[in-house]
Amino acid sequence: MLHLVKQFWTTLTGKRNRPLLWAFVACLVIGTLEISSPLDDIMRVMRNHARAHDASGNIVVVTIDSPTVAAHGEWPWPRNKVADLVERIDAAGAKQMAFEHVFVPTGSAEMDASLAKAFARLPTKPLIGANFDKDPVTHERRFQKPAMIFDKVAATVGIPLYFNGFGHSWRASYSMKAEGEEFPSLAAAMAGAQNMRDRSDIIIDYSINPRSIPQISALQVMDGTAGSALKGKTVLVSTGRFAENIPGGEPVPTALIHVTAAETMRQGHQANLDWGPGFVFAAFCSLALWSGRRRVAVCVGVVGGGILLFGPILLETRNIYVNPAPGLLLCGSVLIIRAWRSYRRGDARVNPLTGLPNLLALKERKGDAGDAVVVVRVKNYAELVAALAQNEDVLATQIASRLKAGNASTLYHGDDGIFCWVANGVAHDELSDQLEAIHSFFLMPVAVGNWQVDVSIAFGIESGMSADLGSRYASALVAADEAASAGHRWKYYDPARLNEAEWNMSLLGRLDTAIESGEVWVAYQPQLDLRTGLVTGAEALVRWTHPERGSISPEEFVSVAEAHGRIDKLTYFVLDQALAMVAATHGRQGVAVNLSAQMFSRKDFVRKVQEALRRYRVKAAMLTIEITESAAVENEADMFATVNALTALGVTVSIDDYGTGYCTLEYLKTIKATELKIDRGFVAAMDHNRSDRVLVNATIELAHSLGHSVVAEGVETLETLDLLKSMGCDKAQGFFISRPMPREEFFQFVDRQVRPEAA
Ligand code: C2E
Ligand code: MG
Ligand code: MG
Repeated sequence: MLHLVKQFWTTLTGKRNRPLLWAFVACLVIGTLEISSPLDDIMRVMRNHARAHDASGNIVVVTIDSPTVAAHGEWPWPRNKVADLVERIDAAGAKQMAFEHVFVPTGSAEMDASLAKAFARLPTKPLIGANFDKDPVTHERRFQKPAMIFDKVAATVGIPLYFNGFGHSWRASYSMKAEGEEFPSLAAAMAGAQNMRDRSDIIIDYSINPRSIPQISALQVMDGTAGSALKGKTVLVSTGRFAENIPGGEPVPTALIHVTAAETMRQGHQANLDWGPGFVFAAFCSLALWSGRRRVAVCVGVVGGGILLFGPILLETRNIYVNPAPGLLLCGSVLIIRAWRSYRRGDARVNPLTGLPNLLALKERKGDAGDAVVVVRVKNYAELVAALAQNEDVLATQIASRLKAGNASTLYHGDDGIFCWVANGVAHDELSDQLEAIHSFFLMPVAVGNWQVDVSIAFGIESGMSADLGSRYASALVAADEAASAGHRWKYYDPARLNEAEWNMSLLGRLDTAIESGEVWVAYQPQLDLRTGLVTGAEALVRWTHPERGSISPEEFVSVAEAHGRIDKLTYFVLDQALAMVAATHGRQGVAVNLSAQMFSRKDFVRKVQEALRRYRVKAAMLTIEITESAAVENEADMFATVNALTALGVTVSIDDYGTGYCTLEYLKTIKATELKIDRGFVAAMDHNRSDRVLVNATIELAHSLGHSVVAEGVETLETLDLLKSMGCDKAQGFFISRPMPREEFFQFVDRQVRPEAA
């Protein structure tokens, strides 16, 4: 359980969900500090409008209005006149009477007594007000209550109203405390709820239309023309006090607010649940809004929002009051953050330089597969950007507008001067014409600020229909790069290349098993000692007889293995085979093994060579390691260290393909190699090419003068062999002597060579 809670917490506080957490905390604070109460008030006004209904009519307001004032003078009236009004209201059949007025002592005991008498005659004690006001001099709050004479004949009720910062009276209480006494409120008393003093405040239900409360002029009562309007009713005498705003409505006399509050209390017990339940509900909705799929989020947004907005209407008809604003704010903010995120993600599909959709947008493009994907590569983009510094956006926009001028499809803009579009319904010829036209637009320089720059472009086209747009784009880009480097205007992507790449990858995967299964083996090409005319050894050349592909050239798979750092196993396999061959000849034949440059960096290589020599009981002098010239350039230090260690062991080190690399005289002098192997490129043609002949001759002399022996590879004719002999070359290797062959054939070859001479 604890684990689950922990996991939930970690998920919630994770970077992705942090905005959700913040929104939750912020709305919690807003709810706690009641910051959102104006919003709740506004929503309540709207709900009240939706629920608007008339008052019960059980409480009637008798107003001291202008005609009354005109006939009977300004309020407050003399107490005997009030007594008169009391009697008339009673005569009209009122059930109970209430005054929104504090009958403070007047100074005339007689007058007060006349009113007290009138009160005493009533069947039910009237309700008379007590209130707080401000001392006009000291500005101190003081409590005003009726004269003592009324204590026995009337019930004192609190008549203050409470207003919020917007001047609205939303709440009413059941009672009022003053000077250690507690009085029922006027509303509570009128509602007959005197015994509910310990109840908390209520929210006045303004869906009861205050204007629908029956009102009658005091003049009519005094004239006896009120008819049955007051019969059986609770009558509140409104002394025409200042009108007050009610939420969402016109100002009304305060008496109407008291009556509305009383009507609210009459509806029964009010349960005010405040913002908590709505917030908890909203918190659950927010989780779905945040992490649900778009459709779920929309559903939850609509349903949850609807419940929060309209649910309270239903509850309020059942006297349950809630404040949904903090919850709504939570849902709203979560929705906004989510929408903002998806907008930003949308932004991630736009290239900021040109405002064009980018490659992400291309890859997500739905619908038609298109006839061809065309990629435009700006060849000199990097140079232009470097020169134009701040104006890359201008350059990119200019290029884009030229591309758009020649093509109506959506143009996508990748990075580094790459644009792309999907050509649809365009035939081969048409596309060529289109590209030709666009290309010609770029013959004119592009204006970037004060500069006129030449923009050079090349197109790559992928017209296969199979793969997804992402890989079609990649293929078209390969073609564009090839077109750019070959100096062509455009090039179609060759799908055979894809197969080749796949082949290369699968080749690598199969190489290890191929070595183990015997598909990979070693061929031996004899090397002839030109002074003795005897085969003294062979070059070990790796072979792969693939069950499907037939024999694969070492140049093909050795380079793949090298490129993926997988050459070790192959090297040691060939070394083992080669030394085993030498061992089988009892050390009469030597062997030359080709070494990849990568092996120089293997610290244990020389040790492993030594171990192999020991294992096969082969003298170090019988092994030649061939390294290529170009290898030296890549990691010279490692190469020198390896060569030194090998020569120290007594192994011959041969510089293979000599003449094709960058071998300097300095390098030749420094390296401790003991053999130079002249590349077959020079050797093969020396019988008919004079300059090659000169070069080979010079190389032999140079090598000898530096103390190296010389091997010539690629000897294909007798003439070449004779020439080499005459030049003093030490060894020869080539098809004229023999092609590379399996080990047993090599043994037979050696036997055939030796036997005639031995004979
Ligand atoms: P390389 O070391 O220069 O090997 C000589 C290549 O020339 C061999 O090709 C051989 O068959 C070919 N050749 C020999 N005589 C003649 C000739 O008279 N005329 C012509 N035209 N060619 C001749 P192969 O066996 O295809 O090997 C190609 C290359 O693959 C080798 O060039 C070597 O660099 C590499 N290689 C072969 N085996 C291994 C190996 O076990 N490890 C590494 N790292 N590379 C190897
Ligand atoms: Mg070689
Ligand atoms: Mg070679």
